[in-house]
Amino acid sequence: MNKWTKTATTLLALGVMTSTVPTDTFAGATQAPTQHTQTQEDAKYVKQLGEQNITSVSWYQNSAEAKALYAQGYNSAKEALSKKIKQHKGGKKLAIVLDIDETVLDNSPYQAASALKGQSYPTGWHEWVKSAQAKPVYGAKDFLTYADKHNVEIFYVSDRSHEKDLNATIKNLKKEKLPQADKKHVLLKKESDKSKSERRDKVRTDYNLVMLFGDNLLDFDEPKAATQKSREELVRQHEDDFGSKYIIFPNPMYGSWEATLYNNDYGMSAKQKVEKRKQSLKYFDMKTNKVKTYQGE
Ligand SMILES: [Mg+2]
Repeated sequence: MNKWTKTATTLLALGVMTSTVPTDTFAGATQAPTQHTQTQEDAKYVKQLGEQNITSVSWYQNSAEAKALYAQGYNSAKEALSKKIKQHKGGKKLAIVLDIDETVLDNSPYQAASALKGQSYPTGWHEWVKSAQAKPVYGAKDFLTYADKHNVEIFYVSDRSHEKDLNATIKNLKKEKLPQADKKHVLLKKESDKSKSERRDKVRTDYNLVMLFGDNLLDFDEPKAATQKSREELVRQHEDDFGSKYIIFPNPMYGSWEATLYNNDYGMSAKQKVEKRKQSLKYFDMKTNKVKTYQGE
């Protein structure tokens, strides 16, 4: 497994590093002045990264447009699935695979806490999962109920931890009356698992897997490399699948798209991440009347 795959499949990260040095350390005369300055500076950028995500989380939680995009995705899904049901002439039973986070369940309250506190995944994540308070995203319950009623097998394939999160995840799905929420259908990431593709292949062994749902390209297929270019190439390859075989949902809060901004290195400093975010932008330069890539101050 390459570094990127590992990062992309194991992190929900906001890309924010938490300062590990307690502030009261700085009061001690033994602390070297240079370290004092560096840590204070890093804390400033950690806060900045968190605050930059507030707008994304607010859009996700408050815009009617976000709900409309989920409606659009699940409406298209229902239309596509109904055709596949009509065309199904026996053989393997039909199945669909859905990611869980930001595809079926809305974890934005966790993302909001991270943004407000300047914390990063996994701080607080398992506590959030354990609380089983995530609500379904708009349209998910209606669509899944439809699939269930039409005898379609529903698999929830998520990189939540099998060891830590399975019981709470099933509890949350059941609480929201989402169908087929049991150990057979909720396939979380075991420590030995490398990527979601293995779990998808396992479903394909016994079922006719006709549709995939996610908020990350990795919920559908794996790009050749962990670069923006390769990810866009994968979209081009599957252009005709989106809206029928592949249903994708909006997530401006986190994802593999963000990891590519950091060259898939979430370990870089908060200051570097802030800079990388800026460098990803193309902006209009009024002096030259041209669109340019940001190169730094
Ligand atoms: Mg997801």
